[in-house]
Amino acid sequence: MKSITQAILLSSIGLLAIVYANGQSTPAKAPKLIVQITVDQLRGDMPASVLDRCGPGGFRYLYEKGVVYENAHHRHANTETVVGHATLATGADPAEHGMIGNVWFDKELGRSVYNIEDDRYKLVGEGGGVDKNNEKDPTQKVAMTDGRSPRALLTTTFSDELALSTNGKSKIFAVSVKDRGAVPMAGHAGKAFWFSKAKGGFVTSTYYYDAYPAWVDAWNQKGLSKAYAGKNWDLMYDKSKYKYGDYDNMPWETKLPGFGIVFPHPFGTAESKLFTTLLTLSPAGDELTLNFARELMVQESLGQDDITDYLSISFSSTDYVGHVFGPSSLESEDNLLQLDKRLSELFAFIDKQVGLDKTLIVLSADHGAAEVPDRLNTFGIDAQYFKPDSLEKQQVIKNIKAKYGIATELISGFNHPYIYLNNEIIKKQKLNINDDSRAIAAELTKINGIAYAVPSIDLVEGKIPDTRLYRQILRNFNPKRSGDIYLVLEPGWFVNDFDGLTVAATHGSPWRYDTYVPIIFACNGLPAKTVFREVETVDVALTLSKYFSINAPSGATGVPLVEVLGR
Ligand SMILES: [Zn+2]
Repeated sequence: MKSITQAILLSSIGLLAIVYANGQSTPAKAPKLIVQITVDQLRGDMPASVLDRCGPGGFRYLYEKGVVYENAHHRHANTETVVGHATLATGADPAEHGMIGNVWFDKELGRSVYNIEDDRYKLVGEGGGVDKNNEKDPTQKVAMTDGRSPRALLTTTFSDELALSTNGKSKIFAVSVKDRGAVPMAGHAGKAFWFSKAKGGFVTSTYYYDAYPAWVDAWNQKGLSKAYAGKNWDLMYDKSKYKYGDYDNMPWETKLPGFGIVFPHPFGTAESKLFTTLLTLSPAGDELTLNFARELMVQESLGQDDITDYLSISFSSTDYVGHVFGPSSLESEDNLLQLDKRLSELFAFIDKQVGLDKTLIVLSADHGAAEVPDRLNTFGIDAQYFKPDSLEKQQVIKNIKAKYGIATELISGFNHPYIYLNNEIIKKQKLNINDDSRAIAAELTKINGIAYAVPSIDLVEGKIPDTRLYRQILRNFNPKRSGDIYLVLEPGWFVNDFDGLTVAATHGSPWRYDTYVPIIFACNGLPAKTVFREVETVDVALTLSKYFSINAPSGATGVPLVEVLGR
C-alpha cells in the first residue's frame, strides 16, 4: 500500500504529466494538436471591426471562448512579414533570431539577399520558382535562386523544441501562400509548403523533401486554382451591409490590369499572366491555403495519437489586399468577412477530424497596417509617401559628398529600413565610418518625412535614449545583417514603391498601428477572458513552451502569459 505522501506525490505528478514508457512526457490532457494561425497584416482592431457580422464559428469562437489579448504588440521596429513570423515562432527578437527584414544586404556576398533563400536547397520539381517578369511581391524578386530553407533563422522555434521534446515524434507542418509565412513557423525540424504562382499549386524545397509526397502531387493535379478562371471576386453580402459600401472607388487604390478597383474583380483566364497573382490578392489565396491545409491534416494524420502535433497556417490574403486597396477599403472589409468564413470552416473541420476541445488554437499576426496617406489627409492627419531613391539627391547628402570629395554614390543601398553606406568609398577615402555615419544620420533627420535616423554605432556603444522607439530599433539590430543607419519615417509616412508597382498602403514602421496585433489562445479548459494588459508577441512561444512543460526556444524572451497557464 502506498503511503499518503506517496499517493499525493503520485497524483500530483499524474496531474502534471503523463510519463510515457519511452521516457517522453507531455502535460496531462495535452491537446492533440496545436494550430498556430498567423494572419498577415491583421492589425489588432480589425477582427472587432467585423465581429457584428461574423458567424459563431470563426473569429467569434476565438473572441467569445478564448483568452484574448487586446493590447498585444510586436516589440521590434521593422514590422515586416518574415520578422513577425520569426518572432512568433521563436519568441526571440530579430536581433537574436536574425530575420531583421524581408531583405537585407549580405556584406560577404556583396548583394541584397531574400530572408529564406538558400541555393543549396532548390525547389522540389520543375517550374515552381519565382517568375521575375510577373512577380508583384518585390522582396521575392531579390532572391537569386529558388532555393529555400530556414538556415538563416538563427535560433530554435517552439516547433523545433516540440520536435526535440518528443524525440521527433510530433508531426510539424507549416503552410502559407508566402514562403516566408511558412518556413520560419516550421522551424528547422518541421516541414513547410507554400504557394507557387508559377505553378498554381503548393511547393516545397529539398531541405524538406527529396520528392513530393503522393498526396501533394495529387492535390496539385486537381488544379483547384484553375477553377477560379473566368470567375470574379464578388462581395459576400449586399453593399449596404458594409461600413465601406460607398467607398469602393477610391483614387489611391492600385490599378492592376484587368482586376479593377471596384467589385466585381475578375480573375481573368487561367492563361493570363497575372492570373495566380490575382488569386493571392483576393480571398481565393486563403481558400486555397485552407484547402491544402485540410488535406495535409488528413493525409499526415495530424492530432490522431497522444503525441501533440503542430500545424501552422499563415493566411496571406489580408496583407496583399491591404497593400493593393488599403486596410480601410471595401475590399479589405469583405476579405476579413471571408477570412472569418475560412476560420469557421477550419474550426469545423478540426472539430470533425481531431476535436476542437483537443486542439489548442493560437492566433496572431506578423504585423499591423498603416492607413492610406491620402485617406488620412482627408481627416486632417499629415501623411505622405516617401521616395527612398531620392535620398542620394538630397542636398544634405550632396553636402556630405562635397565635404569629403566623394564623386560616386555614398549610399550603397536602402533595404528598408536600413541604409547601407558605400563601404568601398569609406575605405578608399579613409573615412571614419562611425563618426561619419553619425554625421550622415544627423543630416538625414533634416529631410522632410524622416523622424529618426539612428546610426548603428550608437546601438553598439549603448548611446541611445531609453525610449520605446529606440528599444524597438535595438531589438532589430543584428550586427552581421543590419545596416549602418536605421531610418524611421514620421507616423503615417511610408515607402509605397514596390519595385515599380505603386501600392496604396504598407507596414514596416515601429509605430503603434504596425506593431498592434491580436494574440488569442483558445482551447478546452482555457477561460474566456479579455486581457487589456500590454503583452508582446515574444510571449507566445514562451507561453506555448510552458503550456507543454518543454524547453523554450534558444533565443526566447518575453514572459509566460499567466491567463493561458491558468494562474
Ligand atoms: Zn505586407
